[in-house]
Amino acid sequence: MKSAIITITLAAICAVATTASAQTYEEKLAAGAEKTDQNHLNVPFVKPKNPKTVYTLPGNWPVFENRAPIDRSPRDKPSKVLVMGSGDPNPNPYRYGPALAVIVNGYPYFIDAGEGWWRAVGKSVTSQGALDLATIMAPRNLKYMFLTHLHEDHTVGLPSFISNPYKFSSTTGAADKKVYGPEGVDEMIAHINTGWRLDRNEMFQGSIMAAADGSTAVGVPIWPQVDVKGRKIFEDDNVMVEAFPTEHGFLKHTIAYRFTTKPDGRILVFGGDGHYSEGLVNAAKGADVLFVEGITRKNIKFASWGGDTVEEKVKTIGAYHMFPSDMKKLQHDSGVKEIVMIHVQNYNSPENFDRLSVLKEMQDEGVTNILQAQDGDLY
Ligand SMILES: [Zn+2]
Ligand SMILES: [Zn+2]
Repeated sequence: MKSAIITITLAAICAVATTASAQTYEEKLAAGAEKTDQNHLNVPFVKPKNPKTVYTLPGNWPVFENRAPIDRSPRDKPSKVLVMGSGDPNPNPYRYGPALAVIVNGYPYFIDAGEGWWRAVGKSVTSQGALDLATIMAPRNLKYMFLTHLHEDHTVGLPSFISNPYKFSSTTGAADKKVYGPEGVDEMIAHINTGWRLDRNEMFQGSIMAAADGSTAVGVPIWPQVDVKGRKIFEDDNVMVEAFPTEHGFLKHTIAYRFTTKPDGRILVFGGDGHYSEGLVNAAKGADVLFVEGITRKNIKFASWGGDTVEEKVKTIGAYHMFPSDMKKLQHDSGVKEIVMIHVQNYNSPENFDRLSVLKEMQDEGVTNILQAQDGDLY
């Protein structure tokens, strides 16, 4: 009975696939299609019937993801930023949680460990040919993580960051991890070490008999050394990193990181979540690129949180996130040359959803040189 059902289902899918369109998914993208109603197997997506659950919010429908990862990095600068995860807490199947990497001299420095961190590395490796990412992301190189804040959507990938490279490092060796972040990061990492102790012990005492090197992680709290003027918190031969305080809801300590790359002097800033603040302006002063969140103001009435009225939502959500008016002020006051949005919160009705509408809102507000990232992009 079961096999009969499978046969019928497959036959139905094949029938749809062959009659759906003369153009392939790739051809449609190359032709500049605004969006596609098919996935890469030319099978039509199943459009959710109920747009009111967390799984079926318009922003989570894969039908709105219309392009492959691209390389937007300057050709004459060897230092790059890889966007591995551009998502937010929503369960968008096409965007991993916030995860970025600065790559200098073939070595990666990670910013935030969102959901799906290890898979985001894997996807990125197959997305960009300009860099030898398979070599750059060797387990022995996965060592430094900088957390903007300790919200779940920016940290839930930490157990993967700590354990997975170790599991795959029997021939090449793994690095012991160092995780910089706000107050509490040491406690968080200690709990992860404890929580996965059985797994780790099995790896170096059990059948694999791996060496214990590379299996540990320490959290390095960088507070209270951080104030709005910024402090240098890390330096090696490749990068110098400064930390600045940001403002993001009721969290006490949230951080923007300003990387200066030594070989080519790029200034790359990671704002994490949050609204306009003096610390963020200082972090982004004259920077080449700022990677930061953005949220709709026009369609805030469709937000599922923040209160019952538009006024309440604007007040509550504005205490956490970056409206277009904030972004404009931030660009004006910091003089940052380019802004790349990740963690875009794009609320709308299902009928009027436009994947790029937050970007357009930002541009309508007067923000210039702003882009919206997708997983696997290079900047
Ligand atoms: Zn977030
Ligand atoms: Zn957050």
